[in-house]
Amino acid sequence: MEYAIGVDIGGTKVQFAAVDPEGRMINRHLVPTEAHLGPQQLMEKVIAGIERIASDLQPDEGIAGIGIGSAGQIDFRTGKVAFAGDTLPGWTGVPIKRYVEERFRKPVYVDNDVNVIAVAEKVYGAGRDYASFVCLALGTGVGGAIVESGQLVRGAFGGAGELGHVSVDFNGPRCGCGNYGCIELYASGTGIARLGKEALEESGESADWQANSREIIQAWLQGNPLAVQVMDRVIRALGSAIAGFIHTFNPEAVIIGGGVSETGSVFFESLDEAVQARTSDAMRQACRILPAYVGADAGVIGAAAQVWYYGNNK
Ligand SMILES: [Zn+2]
Repeated sequence: MEYAIGVDIGGTKVQFAAVDPEGRMINRHLVPTEAHLGPQQLMEKVIAGIERIASDLQPDEGIAGIGIGSAGQIDFRTGKVAFAGDTLPGWTGVPIKRYVEERFRKPVYVDNDVNVIAVAEKVYGAGRDYASFVCLALGTGVGGAIVESGQLVRGAFGGAGELGHVSVDFNGPRCGCGNYGCIELYASGTGIARLGKEALEESGESADWQANSREIIQAWLQGNPLAVQVMDRVIRALGSAIAGFIHTFNPEAVIIGGGVSETGSVFFESLDEAVQARTSDAMRQACRILPAYVGADAGVIGAAAQVWYYGNNK
């Protein structure tokens, strides 16, 4: 049996696993990123983690390749970090692919952490049956990826698909990217918490929920009026952004993952209504809004899935 080694480099932890062609993981482990120690230390951790996975394989188990997903903007062709912000200081410019190839002499694929989630959905998940779809990852921020004719849309240097920075309100608050009213400011965990805090302050009410996204969502599901008001804004903002993506890409599906979307069917039903109200009929009817299939481990599974995906498409 051959395995693909997957590495998911995030701001707080680096995850490793060997993944088989069916998406089953073995030998998984994780280490803290400790980004403050600098890029060289982090690169050494990545190498050491891959070595550990490789040495834990049985003699009859081989390595088909190594797939890496990293926070930041990645130039897929060169496997170099095009830009990484404060999450991974000093990571910009690191030639990840070259380092790993030189050490292991295997095919190596490097992409950003949301593009690899789209690859996981394409190879194993909700995107399996679709040639064109849009992925949204609702977490601390909002990540995006676009698949067209079975291929990720990359743009000039691999930066395409930053869908979290599409504005839904040009009068909205300033975003870190420079724009105003980006969807990330409304539909991320951080955004929901901000709207919750504002709503609590404006109402002057005390509530038995705190302004964090998990508690706001719980209160929303229990019908708390203030939380309903907050989530109504979140869903209208997200619906407006998705309507824009549908009109731009005419996708067969919009696949939504991440903590916020794990709320279940109520979230998807409300979102469906909000999108419906903002989209022309033909476009809307051609598109399904689906929960992501691959769950919390989508980052490391998707990183590895690159090996099967690109290996089979050569
Ligand atoms: Zn932005």
